Amino acid sequence: MNKAYVALGSNIAPRHFHLTQAIDYMKRSEHVLINNYSSIYQTVPIGYQDQGEFLNMVVEVSTTLSSTELLDLCQTIEADLGRKREIKWGPRTIDLDILLYNQDNMVTEQLILPHPRMHKRAFVLVPLAELNPELRIPGTNESVKEHLAQISNEEKRGVVKWTKQDGEEE
Ligand code: AMP
Repeated sequence: MNKAYVALGSNIAPRHFHLTQAIDYMKRSEHVLINNYSSIYQTVPIGYQDQGEFLNMVVEVSTTLSSTELLDLCQTIEADLGRKREIKWGPRTIDLDILLYNQDNMVTEQLILPHPRMHKRAFVLVPLAELNPELRIPGTNESVKEHLAQISNEEKRGVVKWTKQDGEEE
């Protein structure tokens, strides 16, 4: 069995529904078992600022899929949930990124592992640290917890635990 961490994000309403749908989709694959879920965080967009806040989370999965097959699954889920995106780093129904696949360190045209920007982003490191703070990020020689300690407090303040409230706009 291979172990992977997948980051999920949505900033198009209903955001929580989109996360749930993506997870249900993954659960339907007989090749993927979700071992653990982080909390959900509401996060300030990075890059293109003129868009709504995201909901982000990370799941840990065991899978018999290769990393490329797992990427295919993620991209099928994105396509099926109707992601339309014209702006780089702009709004998205659902975004699925493979953060880590075992301790693989590789670059192909389709897939970069670990995910190239993950160790710089609070919205990835905060939920990942909840699941596995001691996990080493290949190619960097530092753990998730150590990377998180290097992120500015200002960026970390933009990542806030979120819980679904009845009737709340999602
Ligand atoms: P994004 O627009 O950020 O969702 O990036 C999508 C593109 O990134 C796709 O063309 C993927 O082939 C590529 N990609 C490279 N590495 C990864 C990764 N670790 N996880 C997901 N997509 C990746």
